[in-house]
Amino acid sequence: MKRLFLILIVLCMLVLSAEAEEFRILTTFYPMYILTQNVAGGIDGVTVSNMAEQTVGCLHDYTLQTRDMVMLEEADALVINGGGMEQFMDRVVTTRADLPVIEASKGIEMEPSIEEGLLNAHVWLDPQMASVQVKNIAAGLAEADPVHAELYSANAQTFLERLKALDAEMEEALRPLNGKEIITFHEAFNYLARRYGMVVAGVIANEPGEEPSTREIAETCDLVSQLGIKTLFAEPQYPQTAAKIIAGETGASVYVLDPCVSGSGKPESYEEIQRENVRVLREAFGE
Ligand SMILES: [Zn+2]
Repeated sequence: MKRLFLILIVLCMLVLSAEAEEFRILTTFYPMYILTQNVAGGIDGVTVSNMAEQTVGCLHDYTLQTRDMVMLEEADALVINGGGMEQFMDRVVTTRADLPVIEASKGIEMEPSIEEGLLNAHVWLDPQMASVQVKNIAAGLAEADPVHAELYSANAQTFLERLKALDAEMEEALRPLNGKEIITFHEAFNYLARRYGMVVAGVIANEPGEEPSTREIAETCDLVSQLGIKTLFAEPQYPQTAAKIIAGETGASVYVLDPCVSGSGKPESYEEIQRENVRVLREAFGE
């Protein structure tokens, strides 16, 4: 009996120590969650959790929720996009000055945002830039959690090969759209367009949650008519009211492009969303 009791105590201690050794990675929003899943998912003793709920979309104007604060308290590393996407970082640093912060977009040159003084931080939609982010995430995790460094590196390598294949596939499929002009409702697709030779002729609103004003709608209608644009690209995470009004006024059609800020949560989610974007773009231009 006494021996059994001892065995039980030892087992309990083992379980407790295993839990204590768990390395908890926290990501700020969906694209960082998916990229990080591909680097750190499935490793024993490592967990990846996402802070903003998947329904949030882009983090513009996002404020930290109680749930986020709890997750921050427990995290061992935080993966952020950077470039000003996480405007709540001051509060993170105040809460957890000791928390290693991995900035995925480190070293990527960003364009200015249409909102003055800010950068356009939506770099993850260009698969080549996403690859740089994956490398930064893997390097940052290896530094913060050296025990699993080799596994992070091996996973990243596999994912980078998949991203390279995706990029080649997108380049091929979007070649007929070279020079085509697109109008979007949020400046998420600028890097994707640039990578594959399309031109963003207009971005209707920087704040995707906000409906454009009557004046902005009228100006966009003029631009659409002037350029002879036949297609508008709305996003699944945001209301399509404005897009439908503009389409009604100008005779353009509305298609839906996904900025990859919400989804199934599966590691393949990034590639699936991008393939669907390619399909929609080709369909919109009659390819
Ligand atoms: Zn955004």
